[in-house]
Amino acid sequence: MASHVSEIAAFVGFFLYGSFFEWTLHKYFMHQPRWQYPFRAHALVHHGLFRTGDDYFLSDKKNLKKVRFAWWNAPLIIGLHIPAILLLQYLLGASILFGACAAIAVYYGLYEYLHYCMHIPSGRWIEQTRWFRWLDAHHHMHHKRHFNNLNVVLPLADAVFGSLIRSKGRIPVPDRKQGAYTMQTLLR
Ligand SMILES: [Zn+2]
Ligand SMILES: [Zn+2]
Repeated sequence: MASHVSEIAAFVGFFLYGSFFEWTLHKYFMHQPRWQYPFRAHALVHHGLFRTGDDYFLSDKKNLKKVRFAWWNAPLIIGLHIPAILLLQYLLGASILFGACAAIAVYYGLYEYLHYCMHIPSGRWIEQTRWFRWLDAHHHMHHKRHFNNLNVVLPLADAVFGSLIRSKGRIPVPDRKQGAYTMQTLLR
């Protein structure tokens, strides 16, 4: 029973941590040339292909692969966390490995799915929710101001570190209905 509690607490804690990890990775490795791979793939390629307004949506079928990360990023990110999680588990004397890994995996999966939906509209139910529309407008603004709105999933770190552009400071988002229509023809 106690291990369930610690695993659930680990899930919540590591999900919140995910926001800070996402923010740091995005700001320091995806937008600054510390390591060429993420900088090229994100700052040059992703931000080069996807801009604001109508250019926020996919414009060429061949760029479909440029929306998501390469498949090996997920095991790499989770794997890099395992030694630290095991150390923390040892220090706390409570089982947290499953909850912590699940939180990182869920956060990562949400990042990939939400970000994909943001750039490739297709009238999904999730796109109609206020929560998604808020997050989407938040990310659209990031494509205008690359060092703001760095979170895609949970803008907690943006709020804590002062990089959050509030709703009233955002530029208007492109029409998702029209975008979904264009995607239908594009991805046929
Ligand atoms: Zn994007
Ligand atoms: Zn970015």
